[in-house]
Amino acid sequence: MSTPGLSYVPNNPQSPWQMYLQQVDRVAPHLGHLQRWVETLKRCKRVLAVDIPINKDDGTVAHFEGFRAQHNLSRGPGKGGVRFHPDVTIDEVMALSAWMTVKNAALNLPYGGAKGGVRVDPKALTRGELERLTRRYTSEIGLIIGPDKDIPAPDVNTNDQIMAWMMDTYSMNVGATATGVVTGKPIALGGSLGRREATGRGVYIAARETARAMGFDISGARVVVQGFGNVRGIAAKLFRAAGAVVVGLQDANGSVVNEAGIDVDAALDYVALGGKLTEFKGATQITEGEFWAIKSDIFVPAALENQLTEARAKTISTRLVVEGANGPTTPAADDILHDRNIIVVPDVIANAGGVTVSYFEWVQDFSSFFWTEAEINDRLERIMVEALKAVVAASEKHKVSLRTAAFIIACTRVLAARELRGLYP
Ligand code: NAD
Repeated sequence: MSTPGLSYVPNNPQSPWQMYLQQVDRVAPHLGHLQRWVETLKRCKRVLAVDIPINKDDGTVAHFEGFRAQHNLSRGPGKGGVRFHPDVTIDEVMALSAWMTVKNAALNLPYGGAKGGVRVDPKALTRGELERLTRRYTSEIGLIIGPDKDIPAPDVNTNDQIMAWMMDTYSMNVGATATGVVTGKPIALGGSLGRREATGRGVYIAARETARAMGFDISGARVVVQGFGNVRGIAAKLFRAAGAVVVGLQDANGSVVNEAGIDVDAALDYVALGGKLTEFKGATQITEGEFWAIKSDIFVPAALENQLTEARAKTISTRLVVEGANGPTTPAADDILHDRNIIVVPDVIANAGGVTVSYFEWVQDFSSFFWTEAEINDRLERIMVEALKAVVAASEKHKVSLRTAAFIIACTRVLAARELRGLYP
């Protein structure tokens, strides 16, 4: 008997949750006897919606919507970031939490999947307002988070300072300093060396290994990166350091190109000092259309969901797409890229460097014993390379895309845990 869909998510085929459901449908035929549990993957274990009222500096009171979704906790506590963005919806948070389930299982990290978000434009708040928003949100979701329940981390528009406020608020509420309640914290508060760079480093490792398997070298490869946050700037920086030529960059303000290669370090410094990427002297500003038409060997979408659409997939000129962002490629675009022999390293592997070092941070917090940056980068490299090898082997065995292969590995692990635990009561 098929189970009806969820009444509390809109039935919009373009939505991230519907996109995720289509990905699950693709993996279902490959799950063998575990297929009987597949419905588990099509719903969230728990979704909390909260009201966040704050005192504004001008004396008024403003209300914001906040969410925390725990998609699946069969393999361990929930793990996943918190996003502050005006477009956050329950649907998006649920999809992101489900992708965390898949990502954590694909990397074999002992976590379930979770994600949180607040529907707010943080740039429109003062620092004091942002702190009050963060603290109230943390208190409201405090019922379901905790070092052994669900561990938030940074995502779009959240950073180590926000994690510090979350950690402090949770600690005040429970009456003890609980560093392990969030990851991505400042080093002085139990954060891990290498965490800030980890997502970008993982994207670079995924690109390097896949390019090698496809028979080309990173050195000399032409790279285009969409999204130039602190995190993704690191990937661009590592590509350049390995001899790749970063020819195109885009952020929320616009796009730039330089056929001779962009000096990424100089561009990062320029943006860090408050400059606009589009006004950076070492590159020329171009239109959105021109950005998507740049010829490259490696394209890294590292901003938001739904960027590589059907129309863009038909015209994009690249050999390898490495998904730095979560959900940047629509399922229809995925099929077109597949038909055009453009390889896609899926988000659940490509951007898993962040959660992997978050896992290291959580382990270090528990043991109060901290590792060197070299140890962290070595362990990250080993876990990412092994996970990628397993995904490539599964894709060859089942004759499916790397995305479906990653889903086969991950969903098999999640549903095997589900079956072993059995249903309560
Ligand atoms: P961020 O806020 O640091 O950076 C986002 C970047 O995207 C910025 O450069 C911004 O200017 C750009 N951007 C925003 N809207 C854009 C648009 N419409 N067009 C082009 N560029 C745009 O965020 P982040 O943490 O780097 O997250 C980016 C993506 O990576 C998200 O999908 C997130 O879920 C994913 N991710 C983040 C982490 C992490 O550790 N932070 C880990 C895994 C995945």
